[in-house]
Amino acid sequence: MSKVVKFGGSSLASADQFKKVYKIIKGDTERRFVVPSAPGKRNSKDKKVTDMLYACYASISGKGTAEKLDADLAEIKARYTEIIDGLGLKYSLEDEFKTIRENFINKAGRDYAASRGEYLNGLIMAKYLGFEFIDASEVIKFDAEGEFDAELTNDILSEKLKTVVNAVIPGFYGSLPNGKIKTFSRGGSDITGSIVARACRADVYENWTDVSGFLIADPRIIDNPEVIETITYKELRELSYMGATVLHEDAIFPVRREGIPINIRNTNAPSDNGTWIVESTCQKSKYTITGVAGRKGFCSINIEKDMMNSEVGFGRKVLQAFEDNGISFEHMPSGIDTMTIFVHQDEFIDKEQQVVSTIHRMANPDTIDIEADLALIAVVGRGMKSTRGTAGRIFSALAHANVNVKMIDQGSSELNIIIGVENKDFETAIKAIYDIFVVVRL
Ligand code: ASP
Repeated sequence: MSKVVKFGGSSLASADQFKKVYKIIKGDTERRFVVPSAPGKRNSKDKKVTDMLYACYASISGKGTAEKLDADLAEIKARYTEIIDGLGLKYSLEDEFKTIRENFINKAGRDYAASRGEYLNGLIMAKYLGFEFIDASEVIKFDAEGEFDAELTNDILSEKLKTVVNAVIPGFYGSLPNGKIKTFSRGGSDITGSIVARACRADVYENWTDVSGFLIADPRIIDNPEVIETITYKELRELSYMGATVLHEDAIFPVRREGIPINIRNTNAPSDNGTWIVESTCQKSKYTITGVAGRKGFCSINIEKDMMNSEVGFGRKVLQAFEDNGISFEHMPSGIDTMTIFVHQDEFIDKEQQVVSTIHRMANPDTIDIEADLALIAVVGRGMKSTRGTAGRIFSALAHANVNVKMIDQGSSELNIIIGVENKDFETAIKAIYDIFVVVRL
């Protein structure tokens, strides 16, 4: 059995956090491969080391002076020294910082700069645990276009891990064919963890963070929402697409293709079971719904034309108008003579009149009507397929809460129901849905 454990920035922000992580890793010999992030915030006013590195590099690439560079680097070094001293390690990063300073001056690149957060944290972690350190630039590979090279990486990394019992592999970065450092997008250590889990065919990919898993609903709207015990990849996709952010979306692909489950865990509450993310499960979710999530700030473009249903190509022409103006759409419910396109208001607002005139020119509709300030809510659950009356319960709960439903869209997978309401009703609607399924448990 082997487990890959990834720790996020808040789990590694200070020596005290490192000590918790040590206990977690040493408490289970199957936790063989460790993927650390850079130190995150120690409190709400603190800075993430990655952000400090980006700012430091921007300054030296711009008008920054050598004095400013030294001051910035000293501030970053202090974060690591505090950790090293707090752990009582005999270890110095003096030479590493000399190299980093030189490389910054020689313009090693923004990605190189950002990656040093993970790199240095990985060195400390390896020293502290007594594990081998594997520099991610040797095993995580990007192609010349800067795209992640999944197969080359898997070949190199799986070969390497065969000969290693325990290792620390820093998250977030790898290298291009010319040797330069390249990072994933922000939050990308989650992706590295998943890649390592695939390469060593781990039994589980544990992703340790500062929450005990995914919550059924947004805690800013619902007081103390329950944690989701098990969620499928598809359900998660439906929810993340509407705004949930615990795991980087691209972290799913490497483990999913190998059928390796992800377990989201809390470094500050290690005995909590967390959330399991799986391909498929016969385990019923505790409630009919697995989760409810949503987002404000949409607008709908309602297009009418008599006999629309018999006009071949009408829909394509309308969508072409959005495509030509570079606007992607979220949802597209339709009636016999109407179709409605939901788009992000902030993307659409500047191009609104161009889109309307393009639709007129291309599709010649009878009327076009725009409605702003709408919210979309996704009610997601694999349990909905086998339960009658889910939609009925949602809509009666919304009616009781005095929420007017503007749009309904049920995916053919019966995995989700999307509801459009006015922005002002968004929180009330989420509460009503959470109450009916989780609190009242209908
Ligand atoms: N340190 C990087 C960031 O702040 C990557 C990560 O933490 O996953 O985005």
